[in-house]
Order: sequence, then structure tokens, then C-alpha cells
Amino acid sequence: MKFSVLLNGCSESFERRAAELRGFIRDHVGHEFVADKTIVLCPDFKKRDYFEANSVTPKLALVSLGGYQPEKALAALKDVCRDEEIMLLPGDFFGAEISVRLGARLGGAGFTGVTQMRLEDGKPVCDKKVYAQKMTASFKIEQLPLCLSIAKGIAEEADRVNEPLRETVEIDKTSEAGGEHIVSCGLTPQPDEAGLEQSDFLMVGGKGLGGPEGVERLKRLAEKAGADWGVSRPVAMSGWAPMERMIGVSGIMAKPEMCLCFGASGAAALYAGIARGRKIIAVNRDGKAPIIHQSDAAAIDDCLAVLDELAKLA
Ligand SMILES: Cc1cc2nc3c(=O)[nH]c(=O)nc-3n(C[C@H](O)[C@H](O)[C@H](O)COP(=O)(O)OP(=O)(O)OC[C@H]3O[C@@H](n4cnc5c(N)ncnc54)[C@H](O)[C@@H]3O)c2cc1C
Repeated sequence: MKFSVLLNGCSESFERRAAELRGFIRDHVGHEFVADKTIVLCPDFKKRDYFEANSVTPKLALVSLGGYQPEKALAALKDVCRDEEIMLLPGDFFGAEISVRLGARLGGAGFTGVTQMRLEDGKPVCDKKVYAQKMTASFKIEQLPLCLSIAKGIAEEADRVNEPLRETVEIDKTSEAGGEHIVSCGLTPQPDEAGLEQSDFLMVGGKGLGGPEGVERLKRLAEKAGADWGVSRPVAMSGWAPMERMIGVSGIMAKPEMCLCFGASGAAALYAGIARGRKIIAVNRDGKAPIIHQSDAAAIDDCLAVLDELAKLA
């Protein structure tokens, strides 16, 4: 069974997402599947060389939209993807939105957060983590085409294999209708998440920090120590820190060499965001908190007092 890859070439993280999908195909897709083409949504064809250099497969289709706008992209893709059986999308916001909406528009299936894909009885089977990441569920997909986005942080980034590009086609969809009901639209640049996803040294603060002042102390220590900092979901949801600092399944899946956790309980949804790291050191005043058993070393103490002591040393 064939599959194609769909990427947003209008996004700044295009290169990283392409590398992630390469890693996903290498490690998480059964060998019975055959990669067909990479479809890239792009503003125009000016950066053709760049897209060719990052293509995930030997066949590339460039779809020019003038600029990324989901309604317009979906209208164009309904035509471009009409013969596809399986579309693989990245684990970012673009992938999650378009996989579900495109699956519905093509009359097939949309699926997000996929950790593994294999073939059983001629049908694709997708695995996904459920029940707060504690169980893996397998879904046999009966209705094609299947548009799936991969689970955030599941795949190692992989370099392009030395396979020459065989074919590039250019599809001009700049005059495609779609999104006429949108009166105006603009982009608000968000701070780059890459720092945290790729951070080697990460400090994570939980509700035990007590409030925005505690987060400030964590931030100051991180800056002094040359570390990045992130927070648990309740800390971000309480407005103590920006949402793009959230670590865990709803935010950033990090893989630090060293992770210090201050006042976080270690709930499964947070822990998934640091579990792939190498060393975890936790500070929590509750010796029975899950993070204590999940960490390589722990201090049963007040996290604010420990933060202050570490700040003196940094
Ligand atoms: C669908 C879903 C998705 C989710 N996604 C995420 C996610 O991506 N990221 C995420 O973080 N959560 C996520 N959650 C929430 C998650 O389940 C937990 O509720 C959350 O991680 C708890 O955050 P916390 O550890 O900061 O707070 P708490 O659970 O309240 O823990 C605070 C900890 O701090 C300790 N403490 C308190 N005061 C001090 C002190 N002075 N010194 C030292 N220790 C102290 C306490 O002993 C406790 O262990 C999700 C939940 C759901 C249902």
C-alpha cells in the first residue's frame, strides 16, 4: 500500500518537520508500505531547490498557494490528493488540523497522534496512546483515504538518505477559491518552540512554584545556569508562564540530557514530555509524588528554597 507525505512549506519549521517524518517512516511505519510522493504547500515556486533538498521521498509535488491559509489549502488538496490512499502529516498544529479536516473532505478517515502504522489483513492499523498515555490503542482503518498526523515528539529527526530526486511537479493553485468568508487574516509570530524541543538542559516548574514569582525565580536560575525552562500545564493555564513553555503531551515533548523538575508531581501527561531525556532530578516536598520514583535523583524539600540555594551557586 502506498502513502504520501504532506508538509507545510510556508512554515518556518518545514525543515524540522520533514526530518521528523523521515524518522517516523524509518522507525514507525511497517515495511509493507511504500512511500510515494512528498506534497509541499508553498507560497510560490521560487524556493524549488530548497524543497527538493528536503523532500522526504524521491517524488515531489509543489503546490503553490500564494500563502498558507487552511481553507484555501483544503480546497487545493481536495483536488491534489484525490487519488491518495494514505497521507502522512507532521505532529504540529498544521498536521493535526489538516489531517482531520482533509480526511473528512476526501470522504475518508482523519487521525491524529499516531505512534505506529502497520498493515493487517490489507488494512492500515494505527497505534495511538490513550488514557493519559498509559495505554496503546490500535485502530484498524476501514475507510480510505486515511489522513494521519504523527504523535508529537515520537520520531527522531532523520537526515535525507542519499536517494536522488526523480521527479518534481509544480501545481499552481494560487487562484484556488477558499476562505472567502475570512475578511482579514494575519500571522502573529510566536517565540520559537525549537529551543525547548531541542534543549539539552531543561528546568521544569510545576504548581509547587506557588505563583508567577516562583516562575520568575525558576527563569532567573535557568538563565544564570545556561538552561532552558518550561512549566507544567496548570502553571501555563494559570497564566504564570506563556503557553509555549508548556511541557508534556499538550505542549512540548522534550529530550534533554539533564532535566531538573521543581514542584511538579510527575503526572503521566507531563512526564511523557521529559521521559525521553537522559537524567531527571526532582525537587518535591512530597516523598510519595510520582516524580520521585521517575527521577534518577530527588530532593525531598521546598522547591523555592532549593531554587534560591542553586541560584547562589550558578
Ligand atoms: C488530556 C490531558 C492532557 C494533559 N496534558 C498535560 C501536559 O501536556 N503537561 C502537563 O504538565 N500536564 C498535562 N495535563 C495535566 C496533568 O494530568 C497534571 O494535572 C499536571 O501535570 C499537574 O501539574 P503539576 O505537577 O504542576 O501540579 P500538581 O499535580 O498540583 O503538583 C504539584 C506538586 O508540587 C509539589 N509541591 C507543592 N508545593 C511545593 C513546594 N513548595 N516545594 C516542592 N514541591 C511542592 C506537590 O507535592 C505536588 O507533587 C493533562 C491532563 C489531561 C487530562
